[in-house]
Amino acid sequence: MAFTITDECIACGVCVPECPNSAIAEGDIYTIDPAVCTECYGYFDTQQCASVCPVDCCIPDENHKESKDELKEKALKAHPDKKDWKF
Ligand code: SF4
Ligand code: SF4
Repeated sequence: MAFTITDECIACGVCVPECPNSAIAEGDIYTIDPAVCTECYGYFDTQQCASVCPVDCCIPDENHKESKDELKEKALKAHPDKKDWKF
């Protein structure tokens, strides 16, 4: 499933450069585009936004649940040059 950012966000911005999908947008509270977030699938074993967030406000988005196959499909669509990825 995609991740989402709660209203605990302090808009520090450290998550933005860590996202392999450029899924995080700036704002008073930063936001994650669920159509783009892959849970970092294919790049990292842990969600990078959640790993770096100082207030732990990056959490699984229960409204956008996806299977591993769906995440893989989304990741390959966003990164067609990565067809040789080992999933
Ligand atoms: Fe980006 Fe990964 Fe966070 Fe999704 S979980 S927003 S892909 S850093
Ligand atoms: Fe908000 Fe956390 Fe990202 Fe900072 S790292 S902008 S607090 S979601």
